[in-house]
Amino acid sequence: MSYFRKNIDKAKGYEPGFQPKRADIVKLNTNENPYPPSPRVIEALSRMGADQFRRYPDPMGEEFRQVAAVVHGVRAENIMCCNGGDDLLNIAFRAFCDESRPVAYPVPTYSLYPVLAKLQNCRAIEVPFDGEFNLPVKLTKTRAALTIVCNPNAPSGSFVSVGELASLADELSGVLLIDEAYVDFADENCAGLIKDLDNVVVLRSMSKGYGLAGIRFGYAIAQADLIAGLMKVKDSYNVDAVAIALATAAIKDQEYFRQTTAKVKEARELLVEQLRILKFIVPKSHANFVLAECRNCDAGTIYGKLLQRNIYVRYFDLPGLSDRLRITVGTSEQNDRVVLALKEILSEQEPEQAPKGQSQPVAD
Ligand SMILES: *Cc1c(COP(=O)(O)O)cnc(C)c1O
Repeated sequence: MSYFRKNIDKAKGYEPGFQPKRADIVKLNTNENPYPPSPRVIEALSRMGADQFRRYPDPMGEEFRQVAAVVHGVRAENIMCCNGGDDLLNIAFRAFCDESRPVAYPVPTYSLYPVLAKLQNCRAIEVPFDGEFNLPVKLTKTRAALTIVCNPNAPSGSFVSVGELASLADELSGVLLIDEAYVDFADENCAGLIKDLDNVVVLRSMSKGYGLAGIRFGYAIAQADLIAGLMKVKDSYNVDAVAIALATAAIKDQEYFRQTTAKVKEARELLVEQLRILKFIVPKSHANFVLAECRNCDAGTIYGKLLQRNIYVRYFDLPGLSDRLRITVGTSEQNDRVVLALKEILSEQEPEQAPKGQSQPVAD
């Protein structure tokens, strides 16, 4: 006997990347920004007083909406503040999906989508990407109430062009949610699509590009009617006063944002180059992580050996991913440390003695 709904009993729940407490580690497992947020964020925090904590926050986060609207060239009514981008995903599933209204998304992708589908008890139509992570044509044929495309995609770092996503949205009868959690490290984005497409929701997160994973802040960009509908589903005070003030300070400082994201992008290109020298297959990444495929070596074993050296990366023991490591782009020093460690680990093991699939992968 269980007190829970059947689908809750069957659900596994999302498994976040490990958050070790020690400071003396190289933490490249959850795609955090290696740089601190803008100094304006700390200034904004120090300006906060007891009265802001005593009162409920602004339910809409109007202050943030105004600034975000200017940054994206839209109106405040096109922005909805969320308690992290994950809050928007949750809201979208509840707003658009149920037992008879499925969700569809290409796979492999962000592992939270199937978890939310289970909780909402809606069918998840998973359409496989091809080997190059091109947008699957079949995605237009699912008749899903909600289609999600993570772009840049996690954990591949691949990018689908804005034009292709515009055509997809045009062909769909349901809503297209474009998860742009990593778009701050890409060259293009889909925010402009909402001008002409009434079924597009763009998800943004302050966790990666703005170095604010600790405060939980994300937002939606969409046409006013969609935003108004999503507002009905959100918690009435889904973003707290501290998060609103700090996220607003961060997004105002576009100069700092450009500098730090540019540094991460530069370090990413160098990291890809160094990994390729070590004979990893590394496709071009448009995000702040790279997915490195292990040739003649076992990704699970290497993951374990990096752990022994206090270097945390992400390993997914899943179909299509079990021969790869996802490595967050860190500072140049952190990236050098992981590359050096990989070089040592690979030289320890003779390729003939360590064929693929013999050792036990360590689950993350
Ligand atoms: C990080 C992330 C999000 C949102 O994260 P928040 O920290 O909740 O803003 C959404 N989608 C993907 C793919 C992510 O990696």
